[in-house]
Amino acid sequence: MLFKKIIVAASLALVAGCTTVPITGRRQLTLVSDSEMNTLAVTQYKETLTTSKLSTNATEVAMVRRVGQRIQAAVEQYFQQQGQSSQLAGYQWEFNLIDDSKMVNAWCMPGGKVAVYTGILPITRDETGLAVVMGHEIAHAVAKHGAERMIDQMLAQLGTTAVSTALTKNPGATQSIFASAVGTGTSALAQGALLKFSRNQESEADHLGLIFMAMAGYNPAQAIPFWERMAAQSQNTTPEFLSSHPADATRIADLQRLLPEAQKYYKPR
Ligand SMILES: [Zn+2]
Repeated sequence: MLFKKIIVAASLALVAGCTTVPITGRRQLTLVSDSEMNTLAVTQYKETLTTSKLSTNATEVAMVRRVGQRIQAAVEQYFQQQGQSSQLAGYQWEFNLIDDSKMVNAWCMPGGKVAVYTGILPITRDETGLAVVMGHEIAHAVAKHGAERMIDQMLAQLGTTAVSTALTKNPGATQSIFASAVGTGTSALAQGALLKFSRNQESEADHLGLIFMAMAGYNPAQAIPFWERMAAQSQNTTPEFLSSHPADATRIADLQRLLPEAQKYYKPR
């Protein structure tokens, strides 16, 4: 698998770009362009919303939008400070709450398309708990983890030779790989294909997510009890959120290590 990745990386070096993940500074190969990812996201997001029941609980919907907009503002401010605002070009942020009490999940597609399912609200408990989840998911998106997972999935499902042409010649397969790569909704779940983020990506999303929530005025220390509640939940069933984001001792230890840096960004409102 690693060998295949190197071949693809080499053969696509001319068409693919290389970018740097903000805050962590990790260099990453981006095989799929931002505009291609955003186009796939718009289609997939529209399909998810039309096939789902949107929440009519005005208080909860307003909370999801408020947390989302505050984190969006933090992300924009952070990228501006880093001189990387261009990475957010083409973002059309949207924050929706889907009414499904059995679905313990939330995600953010490339381009800032966010969905929270009502099933996760008993575990987030309050606005700060929700900011942990949304900060983490938005961090996966702005760090382009979906594009990285797409490379892995395309290699696994289509093979090396097909990867570079799949986007134009095999749009159906591309769309379904996209769905499982960004961890969205039911189509991927039905196939049992919801992918785990790598440990590296999880750690990066925790790091960025803590800083974004802190900049948005939410206490980042609340991330630790949130992940502990999530882990406790898994003793009965494995929620969708945990199948793509394992909550384990490594994560809690990571969060504790990252907290002092995030606290410097925190100004309570
Ligand atoms: Zn994650």
